[in-house]
Amino acid sequence: MIPQAQFAVVGGSGTLSSDFPLGANDSGVSIIEDGLQFETPYGKSPSFRLFSIDGRNVLTCKMHGWRQGTSRADASRQIFWVFREAGVKRILTEGGVGTANHLLDIRDFMIPDDYLDLSVRKDVELEGRYLLVMRDPLCAELREELLTRTASHFSGRIFRRGTYAVTDGRHFESPAEVAMLKGHADIIGQSLCPEVYLAREIGACIAGLYFVVNYGEGLVKDWSHEDLKDIFYNDAPMISRIIIDTIRNMKEERSCECAGLRKETLLKGIYNP
Ligand SMILES: [Zn+2]
Repeated sequence: MIPQAQFAVVGGSGTLSSDFPLGANDSGVSIIEDGLQFETPYGKSPSFRLFSIDGRNVLTCKMHGWRQGTSRADASRQIFWVFREAGVKRILTEGGVGTANHLLDIRDFMIPDDYLDLSVRKDVELEGRYLLVMRDPLCAELREELLTRTASHFSGRIFRRGTYAVTDGRHFESPAEVAMLKGHADIIGQSLCPEVYLAREIGACIAGLYFVVNYGEGLVKDWSHEDLKDIFYNDAPMISRIIIDTIRNMKEERSCECAGLRKETLLKGIYNP
């Protein structure tokens, strides 16, 4: 049995070290069940945690792209299949990113409003019965709440829009790759696609909070592994608190455009015989 949850958090590098959501030390958070794994049409899912924030159920799993023997596309499909069965309607993601925009600095936050998918992954849909319109791919309503909550926990710079370039990784990008992306994207990471397509396919909203942890190679200056480590361990509780407060404060009913951007496919002979 897959438990019901309106909200989900796909954990990234920002919360990995803090046993999300426990590292936030929030009295409104309680763990309901741990170690939940489900059989899906794409293989056995990774482990989920079900918890509640002031009575709102949330499903979460850790960074999921790097399991031995499971492709990144299949890992994502397993997770979003579970989200759909659980009735998830709003998904938050987070993670550390590099820069493609030379105006950005280490420890800037960005809440992107667009993406550029340079990954070469295929087969990243569930049944494919919908035409997915990727206008406004990241939910305006979730982004607004993320912005408000980030500002209440963080006094540095927060960018309310920007383009996230998705690369395949898990290595970082070369100077030539960063130079190519400059002017086309602001931040670079490996965790927004295919999640953004899968969220739309299951009729859910998605938005993400990204923390700059390194400069793109060839931009500004060489970055330090020490900075990366400090952020990874020291800033995780703050990022957890922002995510928790965002979920806590979202209005019950959605008033965004996301659900309307999923249309029935016109390719009926292929997908809906
Ligand atoms: Zn939305």
